[in-house]
Amino acid sequence: MKTPNEMTIVEAARALRARALTVRELWDACAAAAHAKNPELRAFLEIFDADDAAITTAQKRIDAGDPSLLCGIPLALKDNILTEGKTASAGSKMLENYHATYDATVVKKLRNAGALFLGRTNMDEFAMGSSTEHSAFGAAKNPHDISRVPGGSSGGSAAAVAANLSIAALGSDTGGSVRQPAAHTGIVGLKPTYGAVSRSGLIAMGSSLDQIGPLTKSVEDAHLLYEAVRGIDPLDSTTIPDGLYPPRDVSQNVRIGVPRHLLHDGIDADILIAFNAALAALASAGHTLVDVELPTSAYALAAYYVIMPAEVSTNLARLDGIRYGHAARGETLLEDYVRSRTEGFGEEARRRVLLGTFVLSSGYIDAYYRKADAARAVLRREYGAAFAKADVIAFPTTPSPAFRFGEKSDPVSMYLEDIFTVTANLTGMPAISVPLQTVLRDGKQLPIGIHFTAPHQAEGVLFALGGAVEKVR
Ligand code: GLN
Repeated sequence: MKTPNEMTIVEAARALRARALTVRELWDACAAAAHAKNPELRAFLEIFDADDAAITTAQKRIDAGDPSLLCGIPLALKDNILTEGKTASAGSKMLENYHATYDATVVKKLRNAGALFLGRTNMDEFAMGSSTEHSAFGAAKNPHDISRVPGGSSGGSAAAVAANLSIAALGSDTGGSVRQPAAHTGIVGLKPTYGAVSRSGLIAMGSSLDQIGPLTKSVEDAHLLYEAVRGIDPLDSTTIPDGLYPPRDVSQNVRIGVPRHLLHDGIDADILIAFNAALAALASAGHTLVDVELPTSAYALAAYYVIMPAEVSTNLARLDGIRYGHAARGETLLEDYVRSRTEGFGEEARRRVLLGTFVLSSGYIDAYYRKADAARAVLRREYGAAFAKADVIAFPTTPSPAFRFGEKSDPVSMYLEDIFTVTANLTGMPAISVPLQTVLRDGKQLPIGIHFTAPHQAEGVLFALGGAVEKVR
């Protein structure tokens, strides 16, 4: 028998309706687990006190037959998603004392659905990283092996869900930050189509890449949470209406495109074995494997690490010690800026601001930023062509299982973690990571994930195929 905090959203919603569980009991089970485990895992930067009024209202709604499955469900939110009146630090000293003055659109939607908020989760500073080691408040740990990272930047959200401290969570994904930590902790992570989910109230990292996405214990839960937060929003002009892209007609038989030419060096042998076994099982279950060529994919990571820092340098410019955030005073205005930003930002944030400023500077914008932007357009065309013969493209989510703290202290080795995930952000396409079987490392079973990318607004095929993976793995 599962304890309440171990349940999925759908299981908990069912138990609440069967009167086998009350909203209070569910909240208490999650809050107790969170308080007990957080000193070790550091998944949460803050665990909220129970909101008695919200708990009572949710119970009343359920008793009155409210159909919202999220009603009464405790969720965790990444620390870059604004909740009115609460701190939102984005894992940075810069915003340590910043209190949100409004709810992010996703928070508003979840509140209306009756969801409860357990706390804000640990993350790499301003979502820059793949391990949470760049959090200004100490890294989160992987519940499967606490000597290893939970992935990042939404590592706190992933650890909270994987350790059953929260029923589900939201993260943000700029280059893989929902999918990669999901893979490293054995849960499901979805990066929706760019514009599917409002970014209003999300602290921006790379505005043309960022999307908020669910981290959940099942594909069904990811689908449910995605439906609850998506939709056009007047507060975010980049949100898109339903049907903007031509609908994809996907039969029971999904055509899975496999870019074999990209699956060689640098990928852990056990991951490749598990990946191939999963594809073979999907083929036996009636799906079709097709070879696809994505030659420009080899340059996706390089393009991402030009475009993303360019946008980071722009987005972080507002944190100058004058308007809001950490403020240190010097003798001159320039000194105010320099001191505030040097003290407020960690090493990785400073590195990316410098890189971004460089690639946008007048002497280099053509050589770097514009080239990367052109590569982005080529990638989009290439994927478009591949989608003529395949419904999805498959990759392992990460080239290796969760690594040890300190193992990737060289920034480029950390950046290589994102090799299979960044293309979905560069092209705006939706992508999902679904757990496969585990691999054994130093006596510990470590989770790994399979990654599928679909055409714009074809999340439906990701949920269908993700569900199929859960059956065959
Ligand atoms: N790991 C990637 C990076 O460091 C992705 C970050 C993200 O998706 N927020 O940029």
